[in-house]
Amino acid sequence: MQADYIEKIVKSIEPFQKMYNVIRLVDPKVNKVLYLKGNEPVEMESKCFEFWNKNEHCQNCVSIRAHLEKDTFVKIEYVKDNIYMITALPVNIGGREVVVELLKNVTSSIIIEDENFRSTPEVYTMIEAINAFALKDNLTNAYNRRYINETLTLDLISATLTEKPLCLIMADIDRFKEINDKYGHVAGDNVIKSFADILIDSISGHEGWVGRFGGEEFLCCLTNSTLEDAVQIAEKIRKRVEETTFYAGENKMSITASFGVYCAKPKVDTQASNLLDLVDKNLYNAKVKGRNRVEY
Ligand code: GH3
Ligand code: MG
Ligand code: MG
Repeated sequence: MQADYIEKIVKSIEPFQKMYNVIRLVDPKVNKVLYLKGNEPVEMESKCFEFWNKNEHCQNCVSIRAHLEKDTFVKIEYVKDNIYMITALPVNIGGREVVVELLKNVTSSIIIEDENFRSTPEVYTMIEAINAFALKDNLTNAYNRRYINETLTLDLISATLTEKPLCLIMADIDRFKEINDKYGHVAGDNVIKSFADILIDSISGHEGWVGRFGGEEFLCCLTNSTLEDAVQIAEKIRKRVEETTFYAGENKMSITASFGVYCAKPKVDTQASNLLDLVDKNLYNAKVKGRNRVEY
């Protein structure tokens, strides 16, 4: 795409100027705002999230989504009594994949058609709930697969820049099919929910997050723990799961889970998808070595 692309975009949206307060170029992978120096996008000092008075990357960043999925995304955000509309368009400028962000404070201009005549605070709450819904798995309240893909990419880049360790724990309930077969799917869901509660609680004292990777498989991402710490955390969770009584309606049961741990190697591990393969391999080893164990 041409280097004058941003100029063309600005020109082409001139008739719609009133629809946007701010137009900016960002690289969401490194959280940087860019300007064009001739044909080259150049990084500015400021971080893109400073606009939102935040000091870390936004959850539910619409620009990393636009960048990863190579498509345009729109988000409505409610921040400090203001409603913003953010449109993110992925573009390639001077060989660099960047994102054009169109920002509009729509607080006074938005007309929300609500046939249930909900009050404004209720509508704000709805916006927050919708944004949370886009990030979280609704059975377990762990983050969803999309969040895993987007945030792992950002965390890996951030770990490289800050030289902090990035460790993953992949956890999977052992012989879960038997629980489903014996007690039914609803009971199985309850077990998955309780298992997720343990993971989320166990990670809560550390920097990081827990996402539901699929079924009864969860990914814990630790953004400031060494391999030894991560193995110890996984071992603690393993014991806690083994010692917990799980409930399926009237039935009480015990379960075990297996864990793979992997720490990103600086400069070697640059792709989030490779990290997932590597941690999954360690989980697989834990399964073949007899389950209810941690492998790294
Ligand atoms: P392994 O020890 O090798 O992990 O054995 P497993 O039986 O746990 O095998 P696996 O992890 O491959 O199977 C997971 C099963 O979980 C398969 C599927 O029927 C079930 N499952 C997946 N998602 C859900 C869900 O949301 N709810 C319930 N109740 N079951 C699910
Ligand atoms: Mg399993
Ligand atoms: Mg599984």
